[in-house]
Amino acid sequence: MRILKVLAWWLSFVAACGLIITIEAHGQLDRFTHTHHGVGFVIVLGLLLAIPARVIGVVAAFVIELLLVGWERSALRSVIRPSASVRLDMLSTLVMLLLPQRWLGYLLSFGLLFLVNSYLAAHVHLSATHLLTAWGLQIAALVVLQSLVSYWLHRLEHAVPALWALHQFHHSADRMTLMTSARGTQFLKGIEMGIVFVPMALLTQPTLPTPAFGTAGFVVVVAYFIYHIAVSTNGYLAHSNLDTDYGWVGRWLIVSPHMHRLHHATEARYHDKNFGNDVVIWDRLFGTYVRCDPTQDPASVPIGLEQNPFNRRDSLLGSVQEYFITTLVVFWRELNRGRTASRRGQLVAPT
Ligand SMILES: [Zn+2]
Ligand SMILES: [Zn+2]
Repeated sequence: MRILKVLAWWLSFVAACGLIITIEAHGQLDRFTHTHHGVGFVIVLGLLLAIPARVIGVVAAFVIELLLVGWERSALRSVIRPSASVRLDMLSTLVMLLLPQRWLGYLLSFGLLFLVNSYLAAHVHLSATHLLTAWGLQIAALVVLQSLVSYWLHRLEHAVPALWALHQFHHSADRMTLMTSARGTQFLKGIEMGIVFVPMALLTQPTLPTPAFGTAGFVVVVAYFIYHIAVSTNGYLAHSNLDTDYGWVGRWLIVSPHMHRLHHATEARYHDKNFGNDVVIWDRLFGTYVRCDPTQDPASVPIGLEQNPFNRRDSLLGSVQEYFITTLVVFWRELNRGRTASRRGQLVAPT
């Protein structure tokens, strides 16, 4: 019966994707890229650069962690004889590097961008393109806005039961390896990808074309690529065994391994804190920043879920099943629970 439900869910998901693709193919995508100067370029650039940036990011994080914590505590060592949790991390990293979530994200982002853009142009006449006339300023503004959107998305993923049902997979690692960074349901990653591009609507008004792409454009591309690598590397390091809070940099600027470990902690006092994925400022600004209790060792704060439906099967097939089926079963159950839906740590594990 459970298999039938999952199958039905998958079929409706595929049908929804098919609908989006049909709409895009009906000239919408073509019209959008032609009327929005520069947007096609940024999307293609993001896609082309994201793959090597992520590969460089994960390799750099493996090397940095190995050099700083030594072989015994490194993620590389855990790969040799992986526990169920580490195996799921490895599978997540492999799938994430192939980027299937990006395709769903880009399809969604075109649709969402089109809607937001049309609304802004028709009713609000709001655009930042005349204020930010240079490519560099536009991309910098986009990066800041995307960081802000990703902070609030992450907060929503903890506050809305159906989204928590999808996001809890990321929190299900019972041992932190830097690959835990990639642990996430593809469906949710796709939605995130689509939504973080919406701020681009402010910078892509059809009546205000973006400036020509010249030498300065190439400098921006290189800077954007380096930025992608830096964010990706630190995303992995934030999930590593590095025993550091980065000092004042980690308290005010960049998310550190100690800060993000608290976000994964099982203790209730750390729940719904430290949502930032890249920078600390949003948690400081919106009052969700928390530091480790001075009586505790931040590097050994227990992490995971109180009731964990994952890491139960200690085989490759079991991990594949948990990654592709259990994540959806958990989501489906949460949808069925409706108004009685629960939040973090209270979801019932599927039997
Ligand atoms: Zn979270
Ligand atoms: Zn995390």
